[in-house]
Amino acid sequence: MKIAIVGSGYVGLVTGVCLADFGHEVVCIDKDDAKIAALREGIIPIYEPGLDALVKSNISAGRLRFSTDLPASVAPADVVFIAVGTPSRRGDGHADLSFVYAVAREVAGAVTGFTVVATKSTVPVGTGDEVAHIIASINPDADVAVVSNPEFLREGAAIEDFKRPDRIVIGLEDDRAREVMTEVYRPLYLNQAPLQFTARRTAELIKYAANAFLAMKITFINEIADLCEVAGADVQEVARGIGLDNRIGSKFLHAGPGYGGSCFPKDTQALVKIGQDFGSPMRLVETTVSINDHRKRAMSRKVIAACGGDVRGKTIGVLGLTFKPNTDDMREAPSIDLIRGLQDRGASVVAFDPQGMDTARSLIEGVRFADNAYETARGADAIVLVTEWNEFRSLDLDRIKSAMIAPVFVDLRNVYPPQEMARHGFTYVGIGRGIEP
Ligand code: NAD
Repeated sequence: MKIAIVGSGYVGLVTGVCLADFGHEVVCIDKDDAKIAALREGIIPIYEPGLDALVKSNISAGRLRFSTDLPASVAPADVVFIAVGTPSRRGDGHADLSFVYAVAREVAGAVTGFTVVATKSTVPVGTGDEVAHIIASINPDADVAVVSNPEFLREGAAIEDFKRPDRIVIGLEDDRAREVMTEVYRPLYLNQAPLQFTARRTAELIKYAANAFLAMKITFINEIADLCEVAGADVQEVARGIGLDNRIGSKFLHAGPGYGGSCFPKDTQALVKIGQDFGSPMRLVETTVSINDHRKRAMSRKVIAACGGDVRGKTIGVLGLTFKPNTDDMREAPSIDLIRGLQDRGASVVAFDPQGMDTARSLIEGVRFADNAYETARGADAIVLVTEWNEFRSLDLDRIKSAMIAPVFVDLRNVYPPQEMARHGFTYVGIGRGIEP
């Protein structure tokens, strides 16, 4: 199949590379000249494990190209994927669809022959109808089927997720499109990935419902963690105890500093707005959004309390800045609210992250960036572990402690056992660990 992907960010690039690896002929398009020039040189603009090698091997196999020329790339394509951003619209939290609609307008004039236009971007219910309307009004002769094919990959495990998905959701109203999409994903039948064909609006809603449910699950265990702290219980054990129940499942039950990232915050907010627009309020999701916002801000207060109630003039070392490990993505990361909260109360912040520091420099002011965890600890009055990168899971605790002024360790991911930290002489604060070490 000839496939054109419009938008070569996290989703577009991973989709394009994996589809090329399946044997399709793929061109990844972006309006960012610098990004495309870099990709042509084999330089990957994002950090995603395994992507680098896969891009190189598919370029040399002649199955993957990069272009800024949308009309020329779209013309011969059997399928055009739209994979541009749908950020929160400033002010009201609605999904900003301006990038998706701009692509629809460009694609309208460029298609030739029967073409499937598949939206991979996360878009509100009814967006597919609007994309179809835009294309038909600009080019009434266009023979196009608009399909919803939401993406569920996780940054940091994106290639594995794309190649071994739990399911592929395809929303469409056109039998020819069904044949084309079946062909696109045929290689995945070998992995027995279920293809769920459904109506376009249903597919659009599946994506938001999935993300909102996961965000709710995280928020639920975070509130249970708060209760554990005051009631004298251990959230790790509670999570295990409920997660072993197959009806609940153990995933997304890790208490922490609140969810962040490029998807959950914006998608939960967008679902709230969609519910309001349809007069069908999403009250659980509204509450989830509000609890999570509050929680992210509360994390600096937790650190301040661990430091005896005052951080003025103190130095706090922050380990991990990205919203989760194995990505360089800093969007809505809990570290941002934490650091600002500490700075507002007069603390100096030193931070280290294996991949996120370049972006962090432009997002957070007044932070001194260290080269590694031990340099972060030097002269610190407290260490806060914010992102559970592997290299923070087996720290030389004696070395960390001897570099610090005061041995306060706030572990927002419950990486370390409280007993072990006490043995090493730390004053240790985790999340939802209301039991004495
Ligand atoms: P991104 O910001 O990393 O990439 C979007 C790319 O689109 C950018 O490179 C931008 O330059 C390009 N672009 C914008 N307008 C364009 C145009 N008119 N023509 C060509 N290129 C254009 O975004 P992302 O993280 O890949 O997310 C894309 C979509 O996928 C969003 O709707 C998001 O919600 C959804 N999604 C993201 C993830 C994730 O983990 N990042 C997972 C599932 C779904």
